Amino acid sequence: MLSPHVTRAPTPLSRLSALGVTATLAELQRLIPQGQGWQACEVDNLGHDPGRWPAALVRPAALVQAWLSEAMQHGDVACHWHTPVPRLIRTPHGWQAMNAEGACVGQAPVAVVTAAYGSHHLLADEAALMDPSALPLRPVKGQMSLAAQHGAPRAERPRRDNGVFVPLYEDAGLAPRWPARIWAMGSTYDRGANDTTLNDLAHARNAESLDAICPLAAADLREALAKGELQGWAQVRCASLDRLPLAGAVPDTDALQRFMAEAGHRRGRVRLDETPRHPGLYMLAALGSRGITLAHWCASRLAATMDGETPASQEEAELLRSIDPARFAWKQARRQPAGQFRSDPATQTPGGAGTGAAATR
Ligand SMILES: Cc1cc2nc3c(=O)[nH]c(=O)nc-3n(C[C@H](O)[C@H](O)[C@H](O)COP(=O)(O)OP(=O)(O)OC[C@H]3O[C@@H](n4cnc5c(N)ncnc54)[C@H](O)[C@@H]3O)c2cc1C
Repeated sequence: MLSPHVTRAPTPLSRLSALGVTATLAELQRLIPQGQGWQACEVDNLGHDPGRWPAALVRPAALVQAWLSEAMQHGDVACHWHTPVPRLIRTPHGWQAMNAEGACVGQAPVAVVTAAYGSHHLLADEAALMDPSALPLRPVKGQMSLAAQHGAPRAERPRRDNGVFVPLYEDAGLAPRWPARIWAMGSTYDRGANDTTLNDLAHARNAESLDAICPLAAADLREALAKGELQGWAQVRCASLDRLPLAGAVPDTDALQRFMAEAGHRRGRVRLDETPRHPGLYMLAALGSRGITLAHWCASRLAATMDGETPASQEEAELLRSIDPARFAWKQARRQPAGQFRSDPATQTPGGAGTGAAATR
């Protein structure tokens, strides 16, 4: 569901999601006829911040395919589906994505890591481009319950409380194993879980949440589960420590250590935008439960930053700071006692990409 995150007082997330809803809706309207991958609707918020808000139901693959088709018309796009990239390496010419056999599957002067929770492995664990503590990403498994919708829907429009109940979604492009006309309830929120197996316990938790939203639909869910007719979808969200996305240039945390050691007692005045970065390396991750809402706005701002554009307003500059992937490393380094900085490159992690990168600021 594409929907705003409504709060009484504005927060960075509510601002981002308001911008994101507008931006994504415009993309849906521009690229896909309604009914062929998305459907405009409204949602009734029952719990926190009650009210009725404009929303849309979206099949993400339809939007991604539309973006890819458009990009292919404009330039040279090569898709390597089902190609895990366990390693990213820096070369004198830029970045190389290596497959499991150690062969290069793509190289470019500029790379953007968009691997959700897998970004932690790529950037912090495997390549040691970042100190793991400076990349606080967490997996959060979610399971949605769904089944064929026969007859009249159980509610006039989607409802949200602890989860979202969608009484009816119709789309011939849904996964072939699913009916084209479904109702859905989701999703569970399992912090720390990083697997994609469906389980009945999660369906039962969705039924409990649905009890408070639409008791008749909760009875349908339980009946479908008992009859073996309930289907589902489970995946892993990627959330950051402050629940905001990470979109921007990847910090070089080893170079930051040296920079802060040099700054000495002035380190508290070092600005976020002074954080050293790996040249040509960017990321966009930690979209949490709101990827449909946030991905396009964050990606378009990231592309503008990569093109050297300055933010259009003070508000946009503030938002970009709030999603800067360097914010955790920068805060940590400013708080660190002066004697604890690793200023000597010889003491750094072997193979750490920060080696020699201080000159790249
Ligand atoms: C059950 C559930 C319900 C949700 N409902 C909503 C909703 O209603 N509205 C909403 O806005 N959002 C929702 N979300 C969240 C939304 O799905 C995410 O925010 C969004 O998918 C994040 O997009 P992403 O591209 O950053 O990551 P992903 O969609 O997770 O894509 C990351 C990709 O990177 C790949 N990858 C990882 N590591 C590697 C590697 N080393 N090499 C190659 N590939 C790699 C993964 O296989 C994956 O395909 C839901 C999520 C779940 C799980």
